[in-house]
Amino acid sequence: MPPARPEPEAERDGGGWPSPAPWGKLRPVDWVDVDGGQGEGGGQILRTSLTLALCLGRPVWLRRIRARRDPPGLRRQHLAAVEAAAAVSGARVEGAALGSQELRFVPGPVRAGRHALDIGSAGSTTLVLQTLLPALLLHAPGPCELSLTGGTHNPWAPTYHFLEQAYAPLLRRMGARLALRLERYGFYPRGGGRVWARTEPSTLRPLELLGRGPLEAAEAHAVVSHLPEHVARRELTVLERLLPGRVRGTAERVEADGPGNACWIVLRCREVTELFAGIGRRGVPAERVAREALEEARSWLAADVPVGPHLADQLLLPLALAGGGRFRTVAPTSHTLTNLEVLRAFLPLEASSRPLGPRSGAWEIALRA
Ligand code: ATP
Repeated sequence: MPPARPEPEAERDGGGWPSPAPWGKLRPVDWVDVDGGQGEGGGQILRTSLTLALCLGRPVWLRRIRARRDPPGLRRQHLAAVEAAAAVSGARVEGAALGSQELRFVPGPVRAGRHALDIGSAGSTTLVLQTLLPALLLHAPGPCELSLTGGTHNPWAPTYHFLEQAYAPLLRRMGARLALRLERYGFYPRGGGRVWARTEPSTLRPLELLGRGPLEAAEAHAVVSHLPEHVARRELTVLERLLPGRVRGTAERVEADGPGNACWIVLRCREVTELFAGIGRRGVPAERVAREALEEARSWLAADVPVGPHLADQLLLPLALAGGGRFRTVAPTSHTLTNLEVLRAFLPLEASSRPLGPRSGAWEIALRA
């Protein structure tokens, strides 16, 4: 099992930023030192570190934040994750500024109650939600309600529907008491979407997910806001090619502050639901957006594993907090490998990832914390 959450050093010391030594009574040994430029070198290193700092009550010192991104350092949506993590725990933070490549974050105790957070423009609500959820579930002393404003269907981030249909059901299977609702869509660049979440104090059990079981249903959905409906219908035509005659499709016009479009395929198997999305961008034809989701869904079907590449990197953190678990997935992505390294900086973790046979394309990842 992971170590129990200790009271943060700074709380025991009476609080306040220390002087004259840079971190006063917080000896360097108290910080978890994280290299934000390792491996993938993106925003996920920051978010995983914030979650673990909240859950373990450990101060974290991040350097070289997003060193492999151009420009490096904190962008608006990363700052939003820092502010959100500070808001739910009364953390003390230094270096929380746009462009900052160094951050010191000393968490306080996680608070129950209502938290309303505006991420600003179309910053991803789902990435901020994923940062907070483990801490609210495991360490808030009572129920929490979160209302997050920003983007709900962003490129290069989980969509709201991915969270609702692929990620949250697995967390619930592990013991999470969690409800989610999409109140308004938010697309880049206008944002203004709203996601609501409610958590109740929970404990997480290890998860084993080795097979997906038979495919029970396949759905395709496409939504547009302030754009012609034929965009969504053309996307459906492409998505339905995945399993001709078996895909139930919907094309819908939705309310949002600005123009936007998303489409996704949901594959419901007996043991797991996976979801693959394409997000419309200016200048990119609907067919290409849909093909992105189609190709991801095809590779997952062909690999015959329960966990797709995105779910794989996102499951590691709850698994580690639950004490362990095991799942089969595709070859680990650099997000997955990097997330494992970040977990190791905080927890005594035994982890293995191995291919299942020379040609299958399937891998098994096992963790014990
Ligand atoms: P940056 O790359 O600018 O630092 P970022 O903060 O979004 O941006 P990443 O480190 O790239 O950080 O992390 C993105 C996260 O979003 C990863 O967990 C990744 O698996 C997830 N993700 C990306 N695309 C999808 C998708 N289509 N479906 C589900 N999850 C996704």
